[in-house]
Amino acid sequence: MIKHHPTDEILSQFVSADLPASLSVAVAIHVDMCPCCKSKVAAIEAKKAEQVFTDESINNFLAEEEFEGASDLLDAITMDESVDEIYEVKPQSININDQEYQLPRSLSRIPHSKFMQMGKLSRSRVALDDGSLRSSLLHIAADGEIPEHTHTGFELTLLLEGEFSDETGKYVPGDFMMLDGRHNHTPVTKEGCLCFTVVSSALHFNKGLSKLLNPIGNFIY
Ligand SMILES: [Zn+2]
Repeated sequence: MIKHHPTDEILSQFVSADLPASLSVAVAIHVDMCPCCKSKVAAIEAKKAEQVFTDESINNFLAEEEFEGASDLLDAITMDESVDEIYEVKPQSININDQEYQLPRSLSRIPHSKFMQMGKLSRSRVALDDGSLRSSLLHIAADGEIPEHTHTGFELTLLLEGEFSDETGKYVPGDFMMLDGRHNHTPVTKEGCLCFTVVSSALHFNKGLSKLLNPIGNFIY
């Protein structure tokens, strides 16, 4: 069962389209996988829609004489069902180390780079031009781990397939983990996993020779 969800604040920002593109994609993927957040999002959408129609400034605007016909216009827009653009989203699968993975629906129309490999880690950059935020598909092969590290910015990990665990617990597909400088962790996976990650700056390793680990930190960022 999914135990880690976006906060209510993030869900609300998602509905208002106030999130950076990469986080918005992450929430969209999670919502597709999580019935609980799907119904929360539907409730927030309904509430926000209601606010728009009870907003005094909008009602005053519509009531002004010079905008006569505006409410007809609004009716026409809200009653017109043809505005829903429907397109077929073809399921896309990717192959990493001879293993097939199904890409989430929200990622099927966004290009991503070829997978680069470093030891048990494989990473493909997702083409979301989002300032310092970098989005990737990160694959860790069976029995792989990422050395203990913390974050100078934040790291969002959304588990898509497989499993991994760290000091805090074991994660299942759909789990949405937002970590920052207050967290240290060492993710390990027995059976391997595929994640969608959004990272705002390079990782910081706590142990070992940073010279040796920094390439991994840059690889994951
Ligand atoms: Zn959820």
